[in-house]
Amino acid sequence: MTAKIIDGKTVAARVYTLVRTDIAARASRGLRPPALATVLIGNDPASEIYVRNKRAACQELGIRSLPIELSAATPQAQLLSEIDRLNSDSSVDGILVQLPLPGVLDSAAVIERIRPDKDVDGFHPYNVGRLAQRIPLLRPCTPAGVMVLLESIGEKFHGRQAVIVGASNIVGRPMALELLRAGAVVTITHRFTRDLRADIEKAEILVVAVGKPGLVKGDWIRPGATVIDVGINRMPDGRLVGDVEFEGTKERAAYLTPVPGGVGPMTVAMLMQNTLAAARLHDGPTERS
Ligand code: NAP
Repeated sequence: MTAKIIDGKTVAARVYTLVRTDIAARASRGLRPPALATVLIGNDPASEIYVRNKRAACQELGIRSLPIELSAATPQAQLLSEIDRLNSDSSVDGILVQLPLPGVLDSAAVIERIRPDKDVDGFHPYNVGRLAQRIPLLRPCTPAGVMVLLESIGEKFHGRQAVIVGASNIVGRPMALELLRAGAVVTITHRFTRDLRADIEKAEILVVAVGKPGLVKGDWIRPGATVIDVGINRMPDGRLVGDVEFEGTKERAAYLTPVPGGVGPMTVAMLMQNTLAAARLHDGPTERS
């Protein structure tokens, strides 16, 4: 079997079209475009690229972009008061603080300070809690994007064995909540998993989000599985690779996401969709359609 490659750019483009159409429909009803504040602290090169892509996506879709750049030496109190200012600015729909934060800044406190209805990353405990209770509001972007990729290949979820490798707050855990909500039977593996291979061999749907190139070997893949590789790793020669051995996996899986061009474009697309959803939350009751 040779896996079909799931093209994240094509699926993301469909999400962009929906968001663009909705923003145009809002404009025709006299509603302002959604507005996203992107806060970049310090000058980590990877964070700079991610934020640049998010700002470019805003521009492409007609979302108003408010770029905010702070020095790596910004004290926690100043960052929190910047978030308070954005929280109370009624012209701002979404607030994204690019992670990881430099130095001693406390990301959990920063995430919790963002108003849940402006938390377009979907990381606030309120939004994760809503997802856990099957009443999602703003969903964490990367897992939500993985769900759209899976839906794009006709995945039905009910009763399917889904295995997640990695249990972080931003990918693994909310990914488990998404798959559980969709009706899959979910196993979460992490650093203390005793026999990772044995768990992976059971997976009909495999989502890997660890950050270790080649962690998952091609011959561990269950024949016919759908494999979603969230990992992004920069190799010494400059190439980007995922966490899954691509070539070996391609021989066994039915579907496989590439790195780059798989999950990455979906994360940005879902951020745009969340920004639109946040703008709808901020429309007055008479403006909501
Ligand atoms: P993270 O916070 O470092 O979490 C990694 C997770 O992997 C942790 O839960 C860790 O377990 C687990 N882990 C570590 N070694 C393991 C092993 N040998 N076997 C099984 N699990 C293991 O990373 P993250 O933020 O979730 O990101 C993971 C990867 O996805 C990174 O490469 C990142 O760049 C990428 N990413 C991509 C996108 C995208 O848009 N494509 C978005 C976000 C992240 P413990 O919990 O026990 O420590």
